[in-house]
Amino acid sequence: MMHVRPKKSLGQHFLHDRQVAERISQSISDDTQALLEIGAGTGILTEFLLEKNIDFKTIEIDGESIAFLHRTFPDIKNKLIEGDFLKLNLRDIFDKPFCVIGNLPYNISSQIFFKVLDEKNHIPEMVCMIQKEVAERIAEKPGSKTYGILSVFIQAFYNVEYLFTVHENAFTPPPKVKSAVIRLVRNSVRHLDCDETLFKKTVKATFNQRRKTIRNSLKLIAGDRSIPENRFLSLRPETLSVSDFVELTNLMENILNSISR
Ligand code: SAM
Repeated sequence: MMHVRPKKSLGQHFLHDRQVAERISQSISDDTQALLEIGAGTGILTEFLLEKNIDFKTIEIDGESIAFLHRTFPDIKNKLIEGDFLKLNLRDIFDKPFCVIGNLPYNISSQIFFKVLDEKNHIPEMVCMIQKEVAERIAEKPGSKTYGILSVFIQAFYNVEYLFTVHENAFTPPPKVKSAVIRLVRNSVRHLDCDETLFKKTVKATFNQRRKTIRNSLKLIAGDRSIPENRFLSLRPETLSVSDFVELTNLMENILNSISR
């Protein structure tokens, strides 16, 4: 029974397979104390999450879904936040670390990950369904063609597990792509051993020209400073691990501190 008209602009593909919803709800650690769901929609996942004995909130942007959720789940009253996750101040929601869960709106999934990364020290775990291709990219190890900026940024602070694939027919309306559920668990890295702003810049600069060698991409940041020989220069960015990028960032810092030719 569905009384919400799916809106493409909000990435609304409602899951109708209850087994998948239950499996997602079970993928969050048992010791989770607080949980935030992104995009409750018609509440198929929310229903399982409400049963858990934990501090729970869910945020939904769509007024029609909000009205439906209040009608269908009277218990949701003080747990449903009406608003945009991307504008939410994540520190205001719980007074303790919290996990994030959701069948994400695929059109803004990267922005959601970047926001989670901004609050990584308050978010020990995230379980989410996203486009399969994006899930693979995030979980991928260096060396693969799809390993990219998001993989490096996320893997710097989270261990990523690809949990399972979900067929498009599990949704109304079916999306054009397959979906997958992944789990992110915060690792023990508090700070990278390099300037983190320069790390981001270096990762972006190299992947934005992923067919070029590191040497060519670094020239863009280095300007007319000379780049000393190092083991990364003839490689391509997709072969570098997080710790390689940390090392490369430190090399970059030395170059930037050197005097222009
Ligand atoms: N959880 C439901 C399910 O599994 O069927 C809905 C999933 S649907 C893929 C994504 C949901 O996120 C939609 O209900 C959509 O309205 C909501 N949404 C989209 N953008 C949002 C945003 N910026 N903040 C909060 N919710 C958003």
